[in-house]
Amino acid sequence: MRKRIITLLLLFLVTGVATAQKKIPTPAEVLGFVPGEDRKLASWNQIVEYFRQLDAASDRVVFETLGDTTMGKPFVMATISSPANLARLEEFKKIQDQLADPRQLGPLATRDRKAAELIRKGKTVVLITCGIHSTEVGSYLSSTLIAHQLASSNDANVQKILDNTIILLVPSLNPDGVDIVKNWYDKTLGTPFEGTDPPELYHKYTGHDNNRDWYAFTQLETQLTVDKIHNVWHPQIVHDIHQQGSFGSRLFLPPYMAPVEPNVPKAIVAGYTELGNWMAAEMRAKGFEGITTDSTYDAWTPARAYSHYHAGVRMLSETASARIASPMTLKFEELRSREGYDPQKESPKFGPLWRGGEWHLSDITKYMTTAAFLLLDHAATNRAQWLRRFYAIGKEAVRPRRAGEIFGYLIGPSPASGTLLDILKRGGVELLSAKDGAVLIRMDQPYGAFAKTLLEAQHYPNLRDTDGHPIAPYDVTAHTLPLLMNVPVQVVKAPFRAVRSTEPVAGSPTVAKTPRIDLFAIYHSSVPSQDEGWTRWLLDSKNISYGVLGDKELRAGITVYKPSPGITGKYYTLLIPDQSARTLLEGYRSGSMPPELTGGLGPEGVKTLRYFVETGGTLIFLNRASNFAIEQFKLPLRNVVGGLPRTDFYVPGSILRIKLDTSHPLASGMPEQTIAWAEESPVFEVTNDPDASVPASNVHVIASYPADKDPLLSGWLLGGDLIKGKAALVEVTMGKGRVILFGFRPQYRAQSLATYPLFFNALISK
Ligand SMILES: [Zn+2]
Repeated sequence: MRKRIITLLLLFLVTGVATAQKKIPTPAEVLGFVPGEDRKLASWNQIVEYFRQLDAASDRVVFETLGDTTMGKPFVMATISSPANLARLEEFKKIQDQLADPRQLGPLATRDRKAAELIRKGKTVVLITCGIHSTEVGSYLSSTLIAHQLASSNDANVQKILDNTIILLVPSLNPDGVDIVKNWYDKTLGTPFEGTDPPELYHKYTGHDNNRDWYAFTQLETQLTVDKIHNVWHPQIVHDIHQQGSFGSRLFLPPYMAPVEPNVPKAIVAGYTELGNWMAAEMRAKGFEGITTDSTYDAWTPARAYSHYHAGVRMLSETASARIASPMTLKFEELRSREGYDPQKESPKFGPLWRGGEWHLSDITKYMTTAAFLLLDHAATNRAQWLRRFYAIGKEAVRPRRAGEIFGYLIGPSPASGTLLDILKRGGVELLSAKDGAVLIRMDQPYGAFAKTLLEAQHYPNLRDTDGHPIAPYDVTAHTLPLLMNVPVQVVKAPFRAVRSTEPVAGSPTVAKTPRIDLFAIYHSSVPSQDEGWTRWLLDSKNISYGVLGDKELRAGITVYKPSPGITGKYYTLLIPDQSARTLLEGYRSGSMPPELTGGLGPEGVKTLRYFVETGGTLIFLNRASNFAIEQFKLPLRNVVGGLPRTDFYVPGSILRIKLDTSHPLASGMPEQTIAWAEESPVFEVTNDPDASVPASNVHVIASYPADKDPLLSGWLLGGDLIKGKAALVEVTMGKGRVILFGFRPQYRAQSLATYPLFFNALISK
């Protein structure tokens, strides 16, 4: 009898809770289609509207706008948990804060006991980020499916997740791109170009590089995510949902393949290994095929993994793509190997085989939502373990440094030190003022490892496959900010007694002189170039105005501006950003895109550029674009590393040393020694080719790799001997004008402040 009363009471409570919620809207009711349906994309307004309605109807969802994106759209987040947890968010934030920084728990002797109490009360905080790469459309659509299930389901597993976790769901880290991709997709739907990528960057400035900004923090979306989510909540798990190419595995999950950057805590590696392997095993048990782990994606850089240096695991997932929202059919024989596995062979890193067939957007959303709920299940079931691991990372971070260990770094005053210190501050690093205007960064603080990885040189391991070929890193190999920004830094070993090292530093202003630049234009390729985007960002951030010239204008012809009567040209200087010589010349191949977008600069464009220089213009080529200039203008130069196999020469994004001829105006204001960001970069040698368009004496070498020193400062370089003594920056006079070839990226991802003066000197009109 008594049992029956309790059952009735429980029934009443459950129904009471259920009826306290209004009817939860399904995504289809707001978007007009079920997310995952073929050929259907939602606009950003529709996504925001869905979450707004979910918030209004559900007591499990709180939806908020965190700020504005680069193009002025709302950047949003939904916080999802049980109603009881949502009522206590401030308390849970405080618990996270204290576990992240055990110094807040009082004297050493009692910290573990206090932490145990907080771990008992706390929740696993899981940040789910979708859609940073806008052509990977499955994830922002899946965000509505994940939110709907969490808001509406009363099954025991969802209840367990809501009770034990706090979910921070970002439907898109790049809302601008949602509409850029949808507009292009809808425009090309039903044409031969349905399913192609849009012919513009899907983030105004960075395109795909928006996921390389997690330590430089240059973009508004990165800043909002770090300031208003990561640093407020310190999530234990960050589930970053992506898509990869169509022809490899159906799904990648961690662990990441080697190398792991040495400052990533072992506990982080253990965390993503355990969780990733468990998710993969559960998905295989549910019948999902084509899953790989420990392949393709490494854990080398903080540029993609803020959380690895802030006590949270980054759980990347990469599901195979369709053609945007259009299905495709793949044959088993078409599946291609990627680093670490062959999708046609079972192995410890891959399986079971996916035999090919149709691949729809609904397959993508199914893999994504299944993986996300498994991740949440693990986070909920192992709540205490996740919090213990989180506390252990904080405890190890703040422990006093032993004799011989690195105690900290002293950062000397310099023009760019303000930028460097602002980055560290945004990353949660404490700065202390020291003697002579220097700043001390102690390592015994929660995010000391974040500072250390950015302040020291990287030694990328010389990884080879079984045939002896270098294994390519997933991205670049160096991120040493003192080198990139020319800021003096000194390592301090323990024991260390600072004379005055207790005052926090307010962050010093950056002194950045930018020249006035007139009559300057950037070449805008029909094939999107991230380097062009970064260049526009740099110029916009310094309020420098510029023109933009595309293939159409350059094929039609432009003239050089001369301040004399009768001349109609507009520009003195034209910059060609980093892009391959073939792409510059040919652009999209005929038939692959609408005709007005194909053909590149073509022979007419080359003719215009040559005429522009010969009549007095300055043409600047960045990095790989220099190969285009050498070939098309028949310059008396040779790229000494052009066409070499990686076994002979390889520089996949590293910091090298160069020396400068400071008597040349291009190197004005520069020290004699500086850095070069080299990434698939050409290296120049002056030739006496009789067929060249100008004599060798027209070439002025402004920067070269030292003849007597290893060129490598940070990252990975194979075959460094080949470039010793060779040129890295040259100016070639042609007719009345000049061509400037950078054999590196002087404004690399808005980070290489050390070489900005070279870049700006080149832009100054003669
Ligand atoms: Zn991606």
